Amino acid sequence: MIGNDRITDYINSLAKELPTELLHLEREAIENHVPIIKKDTQGLLRFLLKVHQPKQILEVGTAIGFSALLMGEYTMEDCQITTIEKVAMRLVEAVKNLADPRFPQKDKITLREGDALEILKDLVQEKRSYDFIFLDAAKAQYMAFLPELMQLLLVGGMLVTDNVLQDGTVINSRYSITRRDRTIHTRMREYLYTITHREDLETVVLPVGDGVAISKKL
Ligand code: SAH
Ligand code: MG
Repeated sequence: MIGNDRITDYINSLAKELPTELLHLEREAIENHVPIIKKDTQGLLRFLLKVHQPKQILEVGTAIGFSALLMGEYTMEDCQITTIEKVAMRLVEAVKNLADPRFPQKDKITLREGDALEILKDLVQEKRSYDFIFLDAAKAQYMAFLPELMQLLLVGGMLVTDNVLQDGTVINSRYSITRRDRTIHTRMREYLYTITHREDLETVVLPVGDGVAISKKL
């Protein structure tokens, strides 16, 4: 959680442990500096899935498949998960993990390879719809993804967006951050303003993990 490491450690110490195979994959990801969801975000996601019980999940940003497999673990048998990834190096690992018999929940998961914006447009064309979307990709593109995401999200469905507070830097002054990060900073603020002010979304922003926004489509 942003702000207090000791509280985060304590909250994490209360969490139910992941199944062993997922724990191994989590460790592998951390060792290889793959930016997977944090422990407290895992707990939040797991809780939301238990409450909402989605049937069709869309994930933007597979990385090596950790969060997709986690969602597969905590959803009903008939839930289907589509997950999008474009980076070749990540895809190699994702394909491997999503075919691994140690993860029986892999059968719920379909990997779509390519740039998210293009695949989102394809999914709209294919008239797909989702009752749960987990957005966890390049932060600077969230705003660009939003029109398609809104088309794909069913009324009553949830959009969960990760990394919205960027370790807290979103509150820093525009001028205190490097030029490189400034675009992301501006775009993330625009994204957060938009999802908190749209008439068709009810959104809460939480300082969990790297910042998570939870939106419900009205
Ligand atoms: N959800 C994963 C972590 C995702 S990290 C987990 O918690 O286990 C973000 C991923 O998004 C990276 O692997 C990156 O390659 C991918 N990504 C970023 N921009 C993308 C885009 N435009 N299209 C597809 N994938 C993208
Ligand atoms: Mg993330």
